[in-house]
Amino acid sequence: MTSSQASTPTVFDVQRIRADFPLLARRVHDKPLVYFDNANTSQKPLSVIEAVDNHYREHNANVARAVHQLGEEATAAYESARDRLARFLNAPSRNEVILTTGTTQSINLVAYSYALPQLKPGDSILTTVMEHHANIVPWQLVAARSGATVKAAPIDQRGELIVEKYVELLTPEVKLACVTHVSNVLGTVNPVREIARECRKRGIPLLVDGSQAAPHRPVDVQALGCDFYAVTGHKMLGPTGTGALWAKREHLEAMPPFFGGGEMIREVRFSGTTFAAPPHKFEAGTPNIAGFVGLSAAIDYYASVGFEAIHAWEQQLLHYATERLREVPGLRIIGEAAEKEPVISFLLEGAQATDLATLLDLQGVAVRSGHHCAHPLMQFYGVPATLRVSLAFYNTREEIDAFVVALLKVRKLLL
Ligand code: PMP
Repeated sequence: MTSSQASTPTVFDVQRIRADFPLLARRVHDKPLVYFDNANTSQKPLSVIEAVDNHYREHNANVARAVHQLGEEATAAYESARDRLARFLNAPSRNEVILTTGTTQSINLVAYSYALPQLKPGDSILTTVMEHHANIVPWQLVAARSGATVKAAPIDQRGELIVEKYVELLTPEVKLACVTHVSNVLGTVNPVREIARECRKRGIPLLVDGSQAAPHRPVDVQALGCDFYAVTGHKMLGPTGTGALWAKREHLEAMPPFFGGGEMIREVRFSGTTFAAPPHKFEAGTPNIAGFVGLSAAIDYYASVGFEAIHAWEQQLLHYATERLREVPGLRIIGEAAEKEPVISFLLEGAQATDLATLLDLQGVAVRSGHHCAHPLMQFYGVPATLRVSLAFYNTREEIDAFVVALLKVRKLLL
């Protein structure tokens, strides 16, 4: 997807990439679509759409139950998503990858199966002020049941985690530490390796919410040195209702199952049921088979473009969009960390974020307004909502220009 000549720098052929994403050609309110809501969910390349379609046309059957040809094909396709995810995350073993419906389920699995059985009054779970509710509320729920507490590490005004404070909060009663790899509101990239090193020194396991990192950068769970890593498929070109939890084998072996039912057992007797080994112990019931076929195609698509090229292009877009937004009078960017993925939250003096987003939509621009499932972060900045632009590698500088023109237009209407 990238072309390079010996003497010229690599060119990112974004138009060629855009041709792979049918939805990007749509018009909205009779305007060309500018889709800047990628942190919410990404668009899907044709290869993903066709893989799902082809699965239902040619291979549909349930997994791990039938010995017939279609059952074998469906099982092989589903299990190959696990292989791809294991490679994508550089997991030491495919058996450490649990296929889930997304990050929310992945984190709840760790909350109820790993944390709850061991939490007791006086224990705590450490998270941060910049987390998505999915990395806060499950911990509050299991804390309420066990008498444990949830602590939150602070951030600074630039939207960077204060790592020394996080480390100070890693006290002996902390049974699990949590952190997002990349903030869905600020774009901040957290120093996960460093945090993991500090956690390891203290014998505290670390869970990383990788929802907003995996679509932008290569993830290597072994190099990061964490214990749990959660990803969600629909933000990384895949279908909704797909995702994964990678966890160290020792944890998965010790964890009791979360959901009970078919496929997760060895033998069921009323005198006592025995369970399958991980990963199947955590995958009760019929999964989103076609969804994982699509997610496999999504991972292949990333491989065909390459994260090096994706990162370089997205950083160009991030810098260009940041510069252009700084030209807009009365605009304040929330989140100016030194290392960011292409997410920009901002406020516009005198205008409500939701009104702006509604008017931008009429100009064909899709952005997100609101609290972004991050109430504590909004409380930290003392605002009810922000407007968020989140970019992907299929976006262009021309779209950023069109967005700024639209923003200036709606600003005039509102002020
Ligand atoms: N964590 C982060 C950082 C997110 O951005 C999101 C989605 N907005 C989630 C968790 C939840 O992901 P899902 O709804 O796909 O489970």
